Amino acid sequence: MGASTQVSSGLRTRQLILALSVLALVGCAGGRDTRAPAAPTALPTSTPLSSLTPWPTYTLYPTWTAPAPPPPPPTCDCPTCTPVPPPSPTATPERVAATVLAVVDGDTIVVSCDGREERVRYLAIDCPEVAHDEQPADWLGDEATQMNIRLVEGQTVWLGQDTPDRDAYGRLLRWVWANDTLINAELVRLGYAYLRSNAEESRYAGLLHTAEHEAQQALRGLWAATPTPTPRPTRAPSLTPAPTATAGPCNYVGNANSMIFHKASCSSVAKMAPGNKVCFGTREEAIAQGYRACKICKP
Ligand SMILES: [Zn+2]
Repeated sequence: MGASTQVSSGLRTRQLILALSVLALVGCAGGRDTRAPAAPTALPTSTPLSSLTPWPTYTLYPTWTAPAPPPPPPTCDCPTCTPVPPPSPTATPERVAATVLAVVDGDTIVVSCDGREERVRYLAIDCPEVAHDEQPADWLGDEATQMNIRLVEGQTVWLGQDTPDRDAYGRLLRWVWANDTLINAELVRLGYAYLRSNAEESRYAGLLHTAEHEAQQALRGLWAATPTPTPRPTRAPSLTPAPTATAGPCNYVGNANSMIFHKASCSSVAKMAPGNKVCFGTREEAIAQGYRACKICKP
């Protein structure tokens, strides 16, 4: 028996049931309707009931099973996934405010903090290198620097202390917050930094791990397909040997420790240790010696 025959048989069955129902209703209301019920011969062409076997062929319901429950939301396998609260606007021994004077590269900045200029290295991450010592920049090294500039340059940030306090180069090792964003994790999330091996044991391991996972899933930056290597212009060595104080006008003052130079009138100059001060007559002299301009006084 073809499918169309089954359907038409089913329809005929329903027609028959409908007709019988109408007849029954008419019978119930019989007191008011005296017409004779329609003769059963009105459906002479109906298929005999004995040949109607549609039900055994319906196999949909017997095999229907309840749909599987939706999968549980993905669980995070990070050590801690609790959102990190934004820093309160009050300084603590472990957290101080600082002004970002300059961005050195993706993971290093120069800040003014308690009147001192300090180089700060972000904890737990590594950004690709910018060109230095005649070495060309790593892939995305300059882009990481540009992103760091967008995130923190000229801003007041919070520096979160951890151990160790400084690295072998004398730089402060810090967690750096801009508003409620942990910059260390944000650079990872945006695909401009790798996690260092010590990130796993750090206090923000969960946040860092989640950030790296997001960057990897989205194929951002360092996780995108590696481009065909293209020759990059090599920057001239940015650092010169020991800076030397020069005689003459002191229109600009450099800090030999941070390698940042300021207008002589900048408040940072007044706080600078005398031994670190280097005088320049012009900003070009300072730049030629490898100094970067302060982002606050903009010399
Ligand atoms: Zn300045």
